Amino acid sequence: MRPTGKNPPQDKQTANYPDVAFFDLDYTVWPCYCDTHLSPPFKPIATEKQQKNGIVTRVVDSYGYELEYFPDIPRILIDLHKNGVKLVTASRTWAPNIAIELLHMFTIQIEDGATSNAPNNIISLYDIFDAFQWGDHSKQHHINNALNELYPTVDGDNNKEKKKNNLRVVLFDDERRNIEVEKRKGCKFVFVKNPDEGLTWEIYQEYLKSL
Ligand SMILES: [Mg+2]
Repeated sequence: MRPTGKNPPQDKQTANYPDVAFFDLDYTVWPCYCDTHLSPPFKPIATEKQQKNGIVTRVVDSYGYELEYFPDIPRILIDLHKNGVKLVTASRTWAPNIAIELLHMFTIQIEDGATSNAPNNIISLYDIFDAFQWGDHSKQHHINNALNELYPTVDGDNNKEKKKNNLRVVLFDDERRNIEVEKRKGCKFVFVKNPDEGLTWEIYQEYLKSL
């Protein structure tokens, strides 16, 4: 089941939203390097209320290390999702298997009216993303790969190719060097400057206002 934005809502505000949003993971979505800080298996830690409704914002690993995703992440992902933006992870972690496990374990509650068959509209972080890019490549490479996956074209289909090259794309990332993605036309780099806060609603809003 993948209740994501395959059918964008009619009210998509194309003027104010990108077509595709890329998310770095470590220190952008959660405050750790998942290839060095964590040892699976993980268990969810939930308050009584969270246990009741199935939301998992915090997990603990086999050594007792606790990890919680940054607080504004659900709100940002949901806002993009409901506005028809495709969501992609772009991570150079050496442990994609650990990151994938976390993405499956963490859950968020999407709003009423969103396309979802999930009980209480609670879905995993994994299920809100449309595509995933891993590996020790540049973020530019991740972006190009994902766009080819999301917008496949056949040889000679110049219109589609042109459309793909004109997409509005954003990368949220805590490593400033990844600003090089702006070499791609239509691609904006948004720097996540504070590793203790990750991507915040404020940074996100500033970006949207710049569009
Ligand atoms: Mg990072």
